[in-house]
Amino acid sequence: MDYKETLDFALYLDAKDELKGYRNQFHIPLQRNGEEHIYMCGNSLGLQPKITKDFLNQELDDWATFGVEGHFQAKNPWMPYHEFLTESYARIVGAKQSEVVAMNTLTVNLHLMMVSFYRPTAKKHKIIIEEDAFPSDIYAVESQIEHHGFSAASSLIKLKSRDGESSIRTEDIAEIIAKDEGEIALIMLGGVNYYTGQVFDFERITKIAHSKGINVGFDLAHAAGNIKLELHEWGVDFAVWCSYKYLNSGPGSVAGAFIHEKHHHSNLPRFAGWWGHNKEDRFKMPDSFLPINTAEGWQLSNPPILSLAAIRASLSIFDEVGMDKLLDKSKELTGYLLFLLSTINSERISIITPKERGCQLSIRVENGNKKLFGSITEKGVIADWRDPDVIRIAPVPLYNSFEDVFKFYTILKDAL
Ligand SMILES: *Cc1c(COP(=O)(O)O)cnc(C)c1O
Repeated sequence: MDYKETLDFALYLDAKDELKGYRNQFHIPLQRNGEEHIYMCGNSLGLQPKITKDFLNQELDDWATFGVEGHFQAKNPWMPYHEFLTESYARIVGAKQSEVVAMNTLTVNLHLMMVSFYRPTAKKHKIIIEEDAFPSDIYAVESQIEHHGFSAASSLIKLKSRDGESSIRTEDIAEIIAKDEGEIALIMLGGVNYYTGQVFDFERITKIAHSKGINVGFDLAHAAGNIKLELHEWGVDFAVWCSYKYLNSGPGSVAGAFIHEKHHHSNLPRFAGWWGHNKEDRFKMPDSFLPINTAEGWQLSNPPILSLAAIRASLSIFDEVGMDKLLDKSKELTGYLLFLLSTINSERISIITPKERGCQLSIRVENGNKKLFGSITEKGVIADWRDPDVIRIAPVPLYNSFEDVFKFYTILKDAL
């Protein structure tokens, strides 16, 4: 399509957008002057669907009405409540229903997965991660390495991009793996790198890693609800994601985990808790742990129902729209933003996000001049700044419009 850098053209794209009605189903935060913010921060905290309140109220009402009996008597009984999310979660990450479970929070799940999938030996003890991974993920893998008596200095391999490039090439990962002499135990990458927005080649990386007996896990914090995922097909061993970014389930809400079915009957070590125990006799409280033979077998606790209710509310919208339509719009929206940015003639900004991406664009600001970010914030843009020099922008197909994208562009251009 021939894009134009005019408001009329943005409005024309909005008019023919099949998903335009969904914006109205979300609360868009207002500026002090009463106008809507240009919210480009769904990669950090997704907006609140208007129906979320009803889903929460249902559980509050049932708790008031039934007390503990709500585990069975509630309209949506709390005992199996996490199961109500399984089908939608499986669709979002491309998994079988037996392979996903809603539980805990992301970093907790990452640790639980490493308990099972990072089993270092004196020879095979190394983990590969991106150098610019989300710091929390680095803390998590380093602490696992140390927990097993190794040191990050000798056991952690950090993937770097080549000089002058900002994304990591799959061929460079392949080369590290090819040269491995049985020392790498695990590859754990952000499926979409949080900083650059790069999408990794899940399938190829998994395949080459497996050919060397290396386990592969992905952190999907920036991938779930943002890109097309086929975790089962790709044979990924495990994955974890949070639900409060693209999945719009509210701050700190319950996360998700994927464990490939090929591991369900294995006797991988795991940390156990009663919610992972065989459902038939969980309440007989037997002394020995008998895990459920699905991803549910990795659960520890009975989950926070209010948080699960918020996820259900949000996922009902994803179910209605479907990832395919969402991705079509996502490409258009980010494509239009990319076009608009390309018309700005300024040495002061450059895009570091490669074409393998979801909806996020990372804009590098020359000399890490944070004033630019300050001035767009003042004009009503909510985005985020990441040191040393990047503004991350995420036009989210469910609730952002082409008009948002156009307004963002105008504000940025003026600020420059
Ligand atoms: C958002 C994010 C997290 C956050 O972890 P929590 O356990 O949910 O606090 C971790 N890793 C990545 C890559 C993220 O983007």
